[in-house]
Amino acid sequence: MAYDPTNIFAKILRGEIPCDKVYEDEYALAFHDINPQAPVHTLVIPKGEYVSMADFTADAPAELITGFFRAVGKVAEELGLVEAGYRTLANAGTNAHQEVPHLHIHIFGGKPLGPMLDTQFSS
Ligand code: 5GP
Repeated sequence: MAYDPTNIFAKILRGEIPCDKVYEDEYALAFHDINPQAPVHTLVIPKGEYVSMADFTADAPAELITGFFRAVGKVAEELGLVEAGYRTLANAGTNAHQEVPHLHIHIFGGKPLGPMLDTQFSS
């Protein structure tokens, strides 16, 4: 899937749309989700044109991959989530209901989060 530079997170990265910023460095930007699904719900996005985990891990420079994942860890730390625990999640593609086609990692925390998925698997 080709990267669409008009997606909402691309606009946030370019400063065309505001966000409630939590953290920023040369590799990543983190901001609170506009529609939080937990007391803490933050998104971390890489600074680069990547749709999801597949193209990011295949095509991004190693320095960006390292910097991005370090940023995810730093954000969880800065949000004070590490001791009690938190969840990271990255949706990719249709089956995962990815809405925004720019790689993002959700960080959820601030309460017990329950089971990993809220639906029962049956084959
Ligand atoms: P996805 O389903 O793609 O993994 O999640 C996209 C997330 O982006 C959703 O949780 C949604 O609430 C959030 N989101 C969509 N548009 C905006 C926006 O303009 N600003 C912020 N802060 N979050 C957004």
